[in-house]
Amino acid sequence: MLAAELALARVDVAVVERRENQEVVGSRSRGLHARTIEVLAQRGIAERFISQGQLAQVAGYSFIPLDISDFPGHHNHGLALMQSHFERILAGWVCELPVKFYRGREVTGLVQDDTGVDVTLSDGNALRAKYLVGCDGGRSVVRRNAGIDFPGWDASTSYLIAEVEMTEEPAWGIRRGEKGVNAMGKAEDGKRVGVVLVEPRVGSGDEPTLQELRDALVAAYGTDFGVHSPSWLSRFSDMARQAATYRKGRVLLAGDAAHVHAPAGGQGLNIGVQDAVNLGWKLARVVSGTSPESLLDTYHAERHPIAARVLRLTMAQTALGRGDERTEALRENMTELLRMDEPRKRYGAMMSGLDVHYDLGPGHPLLGRRMPDLDLVTEHGSTRAFSLLHEARPVLLDLGEPGAFDITPWAEQVRLVEARYAGAWELPVLGAVPAPTAVLIRPDGYVAWVGGGTDQGLRDALTTWFGAH
Ligand SMILES: Cc1cc2nc3c(=O)[nH]c(=O)nc-3n(C[C@H](O)[C@H](O)[C@H](O)COP(=O)(O)OP(=O)(O)OC[C@H]3O[C@@H](n4cnc5c(N)ncnc54)[C@H](O)[C@@H]3O)c2cc1C
Repeated sequence: MLAAELALARVDVAVVERRENQEVVGSRSRGLHARTIEVLAQRGIAERFISQGQLAQVAGYSFIPLDISDFPGHHNHGLALMQSHFERILAGWVCELPVKFYRGREVTGLVQDDTGVDVTLSDGNALRAKYLVGCDGGRSVVRRNAGIDFPGWDASTSYLIAEVEMTEEPAWGIRRGEKGVNAMGKAEDGKRVGVVLVEPRVGSGDEPTLQELRDALVAAYGTDFGVHSPSWLSRFSDMARQAATYRKGRVLLAGDAAHVHAPAGGQGLNIGVQDAVNLGWKLARVVSGTSPESLLDTYHAERHPIAARVLRLTMAQTALGRGDERTEALRENMTELLRMDEPRKRYGAMMSGLDVHYDLGPGHPLLGRRMPDLDLVTEHGSTRAFSLLHEARPVLLDLGEPGAFDITPWAEQVRLVEARYAGAWELPVLGAVPAPTAVLIRPDGYVAWVGGGTDQGLRDALTTWFGAH
């Protein structure tokens, strides 16, 4: 995602990837939340994913469903889509853009100086880049070599995850154990069994054995169901850690390299994609010299709190997932609470990423929040607000008197669009907000300035985000 964002901004970008291809063995993420679908819609590629998945209400808190279908917007739902398909479709898009791939080799080390980063590869070659972003997962070599701390909490529980065959009828569905949730369901091929099992003791490493799987089945169900022939067998835990800083000089981190946590609530891939979209345009501007390096610090300032919140959410959900009587009682209380309108909306917006609010100072409620995908009318006809963001360029949307704004110094960078909008302004959770006469939208879809009939503050906002003139 980051490579695509950089390529859209015409930055010379290369991906170094250990895997030979984009295939994902086994199942990790099972879907996308609403904000991730919106982010893809902002680039005009959401339909590629939607057409191969299943629209669904996917938001939930510790398996307590959070229906967001009464939220305003075109995507008040999630998308059930396995990570293997997500990565394949995303890679298809990236390959249409000018992105260089170095596949089948690893980054083994890096050294940064004042002007760039030297990156060593496992095939003996080296690359030099102005900036390096570690998107290399929870065990990030880039993070370690950059000397970035990864503080947090060790695992309290570990799980085995597998796709297997069984000679006996499996115990389909969810079964709560003392330490957490066990589950069995049909794998994607409709024949094999997908299993998630709490381990009796916290395990380590991500290559467990079939015997460990048998032992965990017996511990949870009293039988191993004649399990055999695993096509995939792995382990994950509720370890929760976050990079102390998302940037050290010319090295940055995004995705699991910056944050790891339990999969509860299905957040990891989603916030990783959103990290990339927050960072892409900023890094592009700094690389091309149109914005100062300090713009990169807003990446940590904006995205670190998002993952910090996710870590807390997953830790709480892990605690609530335990099956003892007292936790059951607590779950009953939480379920009752989350059925009430206000808590459902707040938690639904949080889990689906629709409530993200970057602190851009006081002002209109839209400031720092996502621009809604409004139905607009321009002199060229009807359009949607997200369509204006397909090229990943900033947009000044003038909804008042045409010709009210002169942004000549930024004209090459910021697209001025005059449009009419007759509908209501409504945000998730907040409800109706006053209609602005203009909005400055960053390439990641967040509102950087809101006009109330004048251009007061516009020049400052343009200077802050899109460079001084
Ligand atoms: C069981 C399970 C269920 C999950 N369910 C969900 C869910 O429902 N929703 C959700 O949003 N998230 C979910 N996640 C989390 C999600 O899978 C991760 O957050 C996501 O894969 C992170 O993407 P990433 O690109 O940051 O890292 P990764 O997916 O780890 O990708 C890192 C890439 O870097 C490559 N790499 C690593 N080291 C090097 C190196 N030194 N040199 C070159 N290449 C390297 C790897 O080959 C890999 O391709 C789940 C995770 C698990 C384990």
